[in-house]
Amino acid sequence: MNSSSFAKTLLFWISFLFVGVLLWRLVSANHIQTNEDQPSYSEFMAKVEAGDLKEVTMYLSPNSYDLQGEYVRPANRGFHLTIPKEAAPALMEQLRKKGVLVRVKEIRSSDWTLILLNAAPLILLVGFCLFLMRRMQSSGWRNPWRQSLGVRTGIGYDLHRLAEGRKLIVGGIELPFDKGPVGHSDGDVLAHALCDALLGAAGLGDIGTHFPDTDPKWKGANSLLFLEHAKKLLDEKHFAIEHVDAVVITEKPKLGPHFPKMREALAKALGIPADKIHLKAKTNEGVDAIGRGEAIAAHVVATLVSR
Ligand SMILES: [Zn+2]
Repeated sequence: MNSSSFAKTLLFWISFLFVGVLLWRLVSANHIQTNEDQPSYSEFMAKVEAGDLKEVTMYLSPNSYDLQGEYVRPANRGFHLTIPKEAAPALMEQLRKKGVLVRVKEIRSSDWTLILLNAAPLILLVGFCLFLMRRMQSSGWRNPWRQSLGVRTGIGYDLHRLAEGRKLIVGGIELPFDKGPVGHSDGDVLAHALCDALLGAAGLGDIGTHFPDTDPKWKGANSLLFLEHAKKLLDEKHFAIEHVDAVVITEKPKLGPHFPKMREALAKALGIPADKIHLKAKTNEGVDAIGRGEAIAAHVVATLVSR
């Protein structure tokens, strides 16, 4: 939902609520007064006899009449009673005799002029809000709720030199080869680039921020631990991993046959299905350090969605 339709929906429901409350108040305004008596007919007549009221408003409905007003004594105390239509003529006569002013009105729920008058401020308010939002949007204002939703993308890159006598670990899997990456941890380029892509998409810095290579704790560490930690950080920020696309660049060995196992290992560390991880292999056509077999590198793009 974009900001415009969101705002319209919000305004609609606010208006709906206001109109509902307005109508309810119009229909039941006098029933919710706290300072109000509901005398019986005889009690009411006793008050009339005693001269305790000067004015009565009589609301007419098809089968009964509502009498409402305020006593003179005690002051500021209201009353409300409903009488059958047949009792009205005698009562009116009595009220006239005692000099009580009687105002006669149709039942208020059908008083559309009154309803429109009450709704006028609301209509003006809604119109003003729409006008204001248009002005703000045309002046480049962006809905802050919109920014917190949606899709985020991060990019990660890593490169390690290859040296003889080290294990070659890529995507959490050890590959048979005579060289391996030089690094503080296990030197898994794919896991490192993936970690950076995830942290970048979530705006959480990079792998060096969370796992500094000066910390002896991470010496020779399995890089899948970094991914598990990154996943926890994403969960805390309510991000879900939607997709990961990666390229690993090395002259040798061939990586393709090992991709299924790598995807399984990475997916397990991240707690996502393996089909959300896509891996590709490239050589560097004999060009530069990677092409000469002196290094291995990886590029990863990760896509996150807000939950
Ligand atoms: Zn690395």
